[in-house]
Amino acid sequence: MQAIIKPRAAVGLELADKPKPKAGPGDVLVKVSKTGICGTDRHIYEWDAWSSGRIKPPLIAGHEFVGIVEEVGVAVKSVKPGDRVSGEGHIGCGSCFCCRTGQSHICAKVDILGVDISGCFAEYVVLPETNIWKVDPAICDDQACLFDPFGNAMHTVMAQPISGRQLLITGCGTIGLMAIGIARVGGADRIIAVDPAPVKRELAKTMGADEVLEKADEATVKKLTDRDGADVLLEMSGHPHAIVGGLRCVRNGGDVSLLGIPADGEVPIPLAEQIIFKGLTIHGINGRRMFDTWYHCESFLRRHPDLIEPVISMRLPYHQFEKGIKAMQEGTACKVVLNWNDEA
Ligand SMILES: [Zn+2]
Ligand SMILES: [Zn+2]
Repeated sequence: MQAIIKPRAAVGLELADKPKPKAGPGDVLVKVSKTGICGTDRHIYEWDAWSSGRIKPPLIAGHEFVGIVEEVGVAVKSVKPGDRVSGEGHIGCGSCFCCRTGQSHICAKVDILGVDISGCFAEYVVLPETNIWKVDPAICDDQACLFDPFGNAMHTVMAQPISGRQLLITGCGTIGLMAIGIARVGGADRIIAVDPAPVKRELAKTMGADEVLEKADEATVKKLTDRDGADVLLEMSGHPHAIVGGLRCVRNGGDVSLLGIPADGEVPIPLAEQIIFKGLTIHGINGRRMFDTWYHCESFLRRHPDLIEPVISMRLPYHQFEKGIKAMQEGTACKVVLNWNDEA
């Protein structure tokens, strides 16, 4: 089968011919229809500090997909050939404390599709039955292949109450933009979105932001929220200025959800002044809750297909993946969807 792989420890990804994988007794073999290129795949392409420390080439990349079940293992009960499915790319160990208490999204021994194990940038992918998600017929392939980032956005928004509250969202990449739409539909009051790029600020408005700002400025946000700051900060950028600036914009007693990952790990924060004395509640967000987040995503997408469409800026046949990564690097593309169907 054709696959997009990281062949060796160096910059780039390549098309290669790989053997079609086999489903074990508890596994599901999926014929891939569409995949999303994620920021993670871009990091793997660029072979940055994170990916070169984590990835062991050769590896098939990719973790965002939708496809049709081709074959199931003998022990599989809930899925059958022909079902249209996506899947949770974080495969928990199943036996640690977190996994056994409904928190497998933070399993310390997690295997991630396209990072630790063979991914979905291929004509076929194998996943355990427990990670398979049957897609509602009302949700089209372009949306279904993006359950993963949409779920990141959903998890971040739903980590605290947002209905009737004033939100500050820093970072309007794919996930930040999806979070704006989710918060809008979920009943948020005022939504203030922050991004330095004018294109992203325009998209933020399309997704339902009331105000867009170039940076998280304390005085402006306090004025806009008329409550001495935002009730909730959703930090999606990982940029140190956005994190610290964002915290300054949150009112006493507010909630903060942090999803964005800082490039060099450590961010100096005025802890006492901006968190302790203000009595903030901080939520670290990793992956998607299995499977609360997935059910949430399904119900939102069934009623609001428009929550994803505006962030898809490119659709390409899979063999043109490099064009998509280039556009992401240049900042001209938000989400890129690759088509793996025969006619592509
Ligand atoms: Zn992703
Ligand atoms: Zn575990």
